[in-house]
Amino acid sequence: MRNKINHKYLSQHLGAYFDGELMAHEKELMEKHLKHCEDCRRPIAELESFQRQALSLKPDLSEENYWHSFTQKVMSGFRQENRG
Ligand SMILES: [Zn+2]
Repeated sequence: MRNKINHKYLSQHLGAYFDGELMAHEKELMEKHLKHCEDCRRPIAELESFQRQALSLKPDLSEENYWHSFTQKVMSGFRQENRG
């Protein structure tokens, strides 16, 4: 079944999907697949709740450098995407 092939491929790319690193057509494929595949939805939901928790926590001062470099990384990613 086509769906099974998608599952094998997509389940290996859940991390890239979550990080927004998939090509547009792969992202579309993933979103369609997630609608009817609980096995793939579950890890995404876990990542989402983990991220929500991480974002809701106030970083303490000892982690300032981590958050600073994280922001830098995100910002440089945006710059690369907007280029051209
Ligand atoms: Zn799946």
